[in-house]
Amino acid sequence: MREFELDLDTPEKWGEGLVSIPAGEPLDLDVRLESVHEGILVTGTADTRLTGVCGRCLQDIAEPVEVEFQELFTYPGNEAADFEVQDDYVDLETLIRDAIVLSLPFQPVCQPDCLGLDPETGERLTESTSESERTPVDPRWAALQQYPSDPDGEAPRRATPESEDTVTEKS
Ligand SMILES: [Zn+2]
Repeated sequence: MREFELDLDTPEKWGEGLVSIPAGEPLDLDVRLESVHEGILVTGTADTRLTGVCGRCLQDIAEPVEVEFQELFTYPGNEAADFEVQDDYVDLETLIRDAIVLSLPFQPVCQPDCLGLDPETGERLTESTSESERTPVDPRWAALQQYPSDPDGEAPRRATPESEDTVTEKS
């Protein structure tokens, strides 16, 4: 059995979705090779980093990716196999690329509760949580926003006569 670590760079861009592994991204491999009757059993982990955009709010994201892989590379001459030992070598690239690409999220998000984009303003909703809980303003009422509406503010509310009575009862 042989174990070794490899620090490589991805040879090309891996993945075609919203997130992918760019070409030249550091790729750390821990690989174990075991000789078995039918061939060589390859087991290991690969660590790299994905970059792309959130599927909801389109913010750039970059996060680590770790995948485990295991595959039997058979000696040539046996029945058709996906992976074969060739000239005493095992070519790990396809194996590792497939493992990583399959692990990439199909609908990546910048955070699990990403709220996406405001359908009216196109702005991200996640950063302004308090605002996002407010119901969108109907355009017909938008003009009223010019008037003070903060209930804790000092804005005079002479327009509503009951408000003075309420204050009196409380005191
Ligand atoms: Zn997002």
